[in-house]
Amino acid sequence: MRLILLGPPGAGKGTQAQRLVKKYGIVQLSTGDMLRAAVGAGTRIGQRAKDIMARGELVPDDVVVAIVADRIDQPDAKKGFILDGFPRTVPQAVALDRMLTAKGMKLDGVIELKVDANILHKRIANRVAQAKASGEALRPDDNPEVLRTRIEAYREQTAPLVDYYRWKGVLKSVNGMAPIAEVANAIDSALDAAPAKKATRKKATSKAVAGKRTAATKVGGRKKPAAARSGRFAAAAKPGRKAAARSKTTLRKSKSRRG
Ligand code: AMP
Repeated sequence: MRLILLGPPGAGKGTQAQRLVKKYGIVQLSTGDMLRAAVGAGTRIGQRAKDIMARGELVPDDVVVAIVADRIDQPDAKKGFILDGFPRTVPQAVALDRMLTAKGMKLDGVIELKVDANILHKRIANRVAQAKASGEALRPDDNPEVLRTRIEAYREQTAPLVDYYRWKGVLKSVNGMAPIAEVANAIDSALDAAPAKKATRKKATSKAVAGKRTAATKVGGRKKPAAARSGRFAAAAKPGRKAAARSKTTLRKSKSRRG
């Protein structure tokens, strides 16, 4: 079983990942944990990531992609894994696709935990209060100001992955605001259900016309046509240098549009 858990900070990814690890006998691969270990050990990667993480920003794609590529080759990941906190950008997702294809592996599902922004702030505040009360060491990025940056990074850079994986037909969305046991049941049902149907360009377009706004459609305060997005994903997902160059250009353009 190979899964991705997608959701903003405080969505409960860690809790659900631990349960899925036990259920399927797979390993949890958290890029946040790996990076924190690298920071703690003072490795070159850790030194590069330390300040970026403390600010709540994203570590460069090449760094995390290299860490994951190395980690999924380890013997304990052969039976399967659950990626927690990776991918976090479209280029990371494309790199993961290439990595898995090269290894003859495929994803069994991408679970999105949908959580309201207000709830996230409350959850993190509770987590911080509990850690303080029990004398646990706090993460340097567990404070309200950095949390805002982390949630913003999710909205800007990670939320477009919801559309990416929907387009690939592997997305399973679950209400992450329900009690833990209910979220767990919803995930189990989603994983037991037949694979989600690949989104068609026609559907994506009519959705945009209907004015249903997703985080991914809003770029720099403007709506981007859904069909253009699926075109971008198609180019990004296509192997070969031309496609990679095309996707890089498109991503650069959309980044500069965001300012
Ligand atoms: P997390 O434990 O998943 O909340 O991650 C903590 C921090 O590690 C993030 O705020 C980022 O600075 C960094 N990080 C973790 N995973 C990634 C990733 N896939 N891409 C970029 N940065 C990451």
